[in-house]
Amino acid sequence: MNLDHHESFRHTIDENLARGISADREQSLREHLDTCASCREYLNASNRVIAGLGGFSFEVDPTLNARVLSSLRRPAQPGRRHWALISVAAVVLTMGGSLVDLRFGDVIASVFDIGRMPVRQGLLAFWIVPSLCVLLLFPLLPLLSKAGTHREERTQ
Ligand SMILES: [Zn+2]
Repeated sequence: MNLDHHESFRHTIDENLARGISADREQSLREHLDTCASCREYLNASNRVIAGLGGFSFEVDPTLNARVLSSLRRPAQPGRRHWALISVAAVVLTMGGSLVDLRFGDVIASVFDIGRMPVRQGLLAFWIVPSLCVLLLFPLLPLLSKAGTHREERTQ
């Protein structure tokens, strides 16, 4: 058998994995794979790459396919721990801002030779309010990311 012959069988393998082939062609492919180790190896490699897309997958470790499939089925979680950390950070920032205002407001006011109120207003504007915004936005973020995930799934 020459190289083009194997090439055409490999093309058939690609086609089968992508959208399926007729029973006749599958039969001749199976017969060739029985005798040709290098094309069998090609099939195994292709299966590993696109496992789960369908097509026949003999000669492939079934546990590998199962693992790939289960990882594909599991929806991509943006990580709840991630959101929890953001919320904790927002709470700490908010409380920290208030604490700075309570404890060091007078110090800051004297250092910069300004009144107590401007310091408080500055802290409110640049620290406490943004922190609160993050805190209030936090429950919405998982919903937004969930919507994004659904959109990705639909385009696949
Ligand atoms: Zn071959």
